[in-house]
Order: sequence, then C-alpha cells, then structure tokens
Amino acid sequence: MTKGSRSHKRFSRRRAQLVKQIEEKGIKDHNVLQAINSIPRHIFVDTAFENRAYEDSALPIGNGQTISQPYTVAAQTELLEVQKGDKILEIGTGSGYQAAILCHMGAEVYSVERHEKLYLNAKEILQELGFRPHLKLGDGTLGWSAYAPYDGIVVTAGAPIVPEDLKQQLTVGGILVVPVGDQKSQVMIRITRLSEEEFKEERLNHFKFVPLIGEKGWD
Ligand code: SAM
Repeated sequence: MTKGSRSHKRFSRRRAQLVKQIEEKGIKDHNVLQAINSIPRHIFVDTAFENRAYEDSALPIGNGQTISQPYTVAAQTELLEVQKGDKILEIGTGSGYQAAILCHMGAEVYSVERHEKLYLNAKEILQELGFRPHLKLGDGTLGWSAYAPYDGIVVTAGAPIVPEDLKQQLTVGGILVVPVGDQKSQVMIRITRLSEEEFKEERLNHFKFVPLIGEKGWD
C-alpha cells in the first residue's frame, strides 16, 4: 500500500470545503469541525484514493474495510461530547483517522483493531503525525478492561446488539456510541451511564457500517 503524501498543507482548501459540507449536514460542535479541518485525511488512504480523500464518502483501506465517511466520524464524535483530557475507547481503529480526530481534540485515546495489517498501518501514521494513542490488536467487542472505565466509547463497526462489556466499561456519566442493526443498516444508539446500574438509551439516525466481528459481535 502506498500511503498518501505526508504534507499536511496539501488539500487545505478541499478540507475546508468538506468542513462546510459537514456543517451544512448539521454538525455544530466547533471542536469537531476544527479537528476535521486540521487532520489530513489523505494521509490515511492509499495514494490511489488521495484525490477522493475530501469527498464526504467512505473509502477502502484494505482487508475489506473502510475509512468511515467524514460526516459519520463527525456525527459519532459529536455524540461523544468529548472534553479535553477525556479517556476515550474506540472499537475499530481501521485507518487511524477517527483516533487522530479524538487525539487532536485533546482526548486520551485507546483504540482496538482486529486486523493486524490495519493496526500496524494506523500505528505508523499516528506516530508520524505526532499522536500517541494506546493501540491494541484484538477483539474490541470485549472492550479493553485493563484501562476501564472510560468517559466515552465509540464503536465504528455495526453491531448486532449493544455489547454489554462496553456498557460496563463506562464511567458514571460516560457515553457509549454504537451503531446497532443487521448487516445492511444500523441505528446509531447513544447510551449514557446514569449510575452503576442505570443507563439512558437514545436511538438516533440510520447509518451503514462494516460489521463488528467478534465474540460479542457477528461471527
Ligand atoms: N474508525 C476507523 C477509521 O477512522 O478509519 C474506521 C473503521 S472501519 C469502518 C471499522 C473497523 O472495525 C475495521 O477496521 C474493522 O476491522 C474493525 N473491527 C470490526 N470488528 C472488530 C472487533 N471486534 N474489534 C476490533 N476491531 C473491529
């Protein structure tokens, strides 16, 4: 895989246009928009796709996986209500782009990926950009208990059900954002932990993600 050009400055005008598009689609969180404007998405895709990196669409990243559509990244990040210093767990590192957005927003990022090639690629790119998230190769349907609890957990693949382990790894007040449905379409669910035992669930818009595969996901 030939990675996109390392220059941050390339495509800055197209990046700004993408931010405008995402804002028009309803994203309001200034910190999210600012992060999308700052992170060079073309670096996270193969050079064959770098000219399309600032279209608002998902793109292939190998292993049958995708870098999510920028609007989807922005929508999930906005739902997390990230504050500087928050401990955020991402399930599905993929290209590393979402992790870079969260790092840029000042979060302490933990991210799990099940494909070794993607895990290694993401690690290299994030390091080059100067970010230091904690990355793990493994099954994210079980969360990452060693570092729990988290202020936020975002699942970037479509789950058949809300993975219980993830709910249990939230701090009180923490937010879990997870797309749940069949393999064709999922509803975005936001779960807020109100107390040790109580959770509030909100069902939001429909999206289409690659499947979350693992012990508490799809086979
Ligand atoms: N967040 C990614 C990004 O910014 O590029 C996009 C992720 S892609 C839509 C979904 C990712 O979830 C894929 O890389 C896939 O391999 C990964 N995945 C699926 N099931 C998983 C699991 N159980 N644990 C960890 N990663 C998983």
